[in-house]
Amino acid sequence: MKTLVYGLGESGMHAVRALLAQGAEVVAGDARNTEQLRHRTSELGVEGRLGGGPETLDGVARVVASPGISPQEPVLAGAEKAGIPVVSEVALGLELIGPGIQTVGVTGTNGKTTVVDMLGGILRGAGMPHAVAGNSWRALTGCVEEARRAGTLVLEVSSFQLHYLSAPGFHVAALLNVRPDHLNWHASFEEYARDKLKVFDGQEPDDLALVSAGDAIGRDAVQHLRAETLVVGGDGTGVQDGALTLMGKSLLAENELRFIGSHNKENALFAAAAAEKLGVTREEIRAGLASYRLQPHRVEVVAERGSVQYVNDSKATNPAAVEAALSSFERPVVLILGGSKKDTEFGEILPHLTRCRAVVCQGDAGPLIAEYLAGAGWGRVVYRVPDLERAVALAEKLSRPGDVVLLSPGCASFDQFSGYEERGDAFTRLAANEREPRKLVGR
Ligand code: ADP
Repeated sequence: MKTLVYGLGESGMHAVRALLAQGAEVVAGDARNTEQLRHRTSELGVEGRLGGGPETLDGVARVVASPGISPQEPVLAGAEKAGIPVVSEVALGLELIGPGIQTVGVTGTNGKTTVVDMLGGILRGAGMPHAVAGNSWRALTGCVEEARRAGTLVLEVSSFQLHYLSAPGFHVAALLNVRPDHLNWHASFEEYARDKLKVFDGQEPDDLALVSAGDAIGRDAVQHLRAETLVVGGDGTGVQDGALTLMGKSLLAENELRFIGSHNKENALFAAAAAEKLGVTREEIRAGLASYRLQPHRVEVVAERGSVQYVNDSKATNPAAVEAALSSFERPVVLILGGSKKDTEFGEILPHLTRCRAVVCQGDAGPLIAEYLAGAGWGRVVYRVPDLERAVALAEKLSRPGDVVLLSPGCASFDQFSGYEERGDAFTRLAANEREPRKLVGR
């Protein structure tokens, strides 16, 4: 009975090791067949099946799928067709950890990392042992023992990981929002939403389910949930009279926070509600939120020149995140959009463009976005340039004292950079008008 671990990135490697430690018979597969992957499989001491051919599934009784591999990919589609069970690396991790620990699952199109980070910060400040893993953190199969020892696990779960995860039974499950994204991976928006809702599967009545009042998918789900539910933005939980308020009781004043944006205040309330369910006191939650600073590349003020603020929101890779960033500012904004091409609808940002003095569209997706915005009647404020460097230079010329130059691209970065961090770092240097050589790839 062989288990195939398919996809040999970091989480796949951890999954192979965790299975070997259990004495399982493991084969390691990947759609690619490269020197590096051949080296990896021999290092692991397992049979490698590289290239993604149909023989990959020979004698396989179960598949552990790494995130990022689409269910339409031939090996995974083949497994499904042949009735071979497929689970995600996170599902394997939860199985290996077993029952007996408190688990928090956080999903959503935007804000997962921030909520998990805020909750982790609150738990750290409160001295509650815990492990943080999942999506943009460590692979869960790499910290099974640590999670067991800590007794509390905070897990960021993407739609990819939820697709192949059944009934996780999280003690606290949070669905932050569901907006169009990753539609090249999922068959449709409906499937994407269905996968996100799986975060609530297996919950019991004394567990807690968190959704947002501003999110139609979460709001509609409430009536079908078994767990106790809390609607952030309703149920006495939101920003009231200048204070973050949790279930009718004020937690802390908005001006005590070190971050901006109503989306981040909502994120804070998700983290606060989860922390309270885990047994953290209100005073500890207050202290954790008051000292929290956003991670880089998320509505991050990186420079101030000539009374113009430069804000790096390179992590905004879909229009819903751009919308959240635009809503964070009262001041006029020169917005930089664009990056790699993906099938995205920019319609939802249109109502927010009233805040924009100008919109500079750049990168591979720039011409398409510019054309779309012009067609929607915004042509007089829309500009087009080939790359980020020229976008920052033009944004600087177009801005006036008191404005914000905001990089919130609404697109992935791979047309010019290796990832959102490199893009954000490049923006930060350009914004500070530094002259060091920039490490731009793909030129
Ligand atoms: P994720 O891990 O889900 O990608 P992040 O916390 O890394 O989320 O934030 C990604 C982008 O989404 C950033 O641009 C951030 O400003 C924006 N964002 C964060 N929280 C929310 C939210 N609740 N609603 C909309 N956008 C958000």
